[in-house]
Amino acid sequence: MNDIIITENLTKYYGKVHAVDSISINVRKGEIYGFLGLNGAGKTTTIRMLLGIIRPTSGRSYLNGKKVHAGNHSLWDKVGYLVEIPYSYPDLTVYENLEIVRRLRLIVNSSPVESVMEKLKLSPYRDRKAKDLSHGNAQRLGIAKAIIHNPDILILDEPANGLDPAGIVEIREMLREMALQEGVTIFISSHILGEISRFATRIGIIHEGKLVQESDIDHLESSLYRRLQVKTDDTDGARSLLLKKGYTAAIEEDFMEVSGKDAISNPENIASLLVHEGYPPTMLKVEEEDLESYFLRVIEKNGGAK
Ligand code: ATP
Repeated sequence: MNDIIITENLTKYYGKVHAVDSISINVRKGEIYGFLGLNGAGKTTTIRMLLGIIRPTSGRSYLNGKKVHAGNHSLWDKVGYLVEIPYSYPDLTVYENLEIVRRLRLIVNSSPVESVMEKLKLSPYRDRKAKDLSHGNAQRLGIAKAIIHNPDILILDEPANGLDPAGIVEIREMLREMALQEGVTIFISSHILGEISRFATRIGIIHEGKLVQESDIDHLESSLYRRLQVKTDDTDGARSLLLKKGYTAAIEEDFMEVSGKDAISNPENIASLLVHEGYPPTMLKVEEEDLESYFLRVIEKNGGAK
């Protein structure tokens, strides 16, 4: 009952292209679901179906318990969205564009236009025509239009596009606050795990139209590969000792990669063993796989990038 966004076996063929292959996702209230995939993985197609912009070949989706279809108008009162390049009226100013959305959304009070411009740092550009905005500010205008009516559900396709690093942090903080303080449920796509993992509560990875992995953000950390690298002046001697003590030690370039037992969880045990036995380490560190390598590893496991 708490699932605010549901897709059931959502599938889309474009002719012979199987763009989305039976995607089933459930997003609970107040969650930030990070939908991750390489270019062409099927993110935008999934989001378009979720928003009723295109019709699925099969499967269905629900927002706030209501089935998504183009005719279900009441559905959109509480949904905000941004899909790919945000469309604005190019010859109208930032203010005028937002004013149109306010009226279309039947918002009686005019103050949300000012407050959303303030929130997205667009006030200095209020009288600038949309076509003259920088890519980043056009994106901000798109996000402003998505949130002007205080939606309960926010669906954003690559909102970080075109934003500078400070803008990315700012938007991330704003979205986090909306989820945490206002209980807004957020579905957000990206192709950068490092970015999305900073604020998503759950991650789904889509590859070639299939949902190949889903994990809570807390589990992500434990899925990353870790390896213990050790360097001593006598690699062979140290290696024999470690093998005798039940560890595995593979020689790599000018260091050993040690695993087994408590190597990763308690590397200090290995440090003291080596010191005691006369092979003091000159380097000992646990190296953790970075998030993008992890993402590519999951993709690789599922057929790799083509
Ligand atoms: P990106 O990150 O590049 O935006 P994406 O994950 O959003 O990629 P989609 O745009 O959903 O991916 O595309 C999924 C697949 O469907 C791709 O192979 C794409 O070429 C194909 N596709 C998308 N739209 C159409 C269309 N209108 N007609 C034919 N094929 C399409």
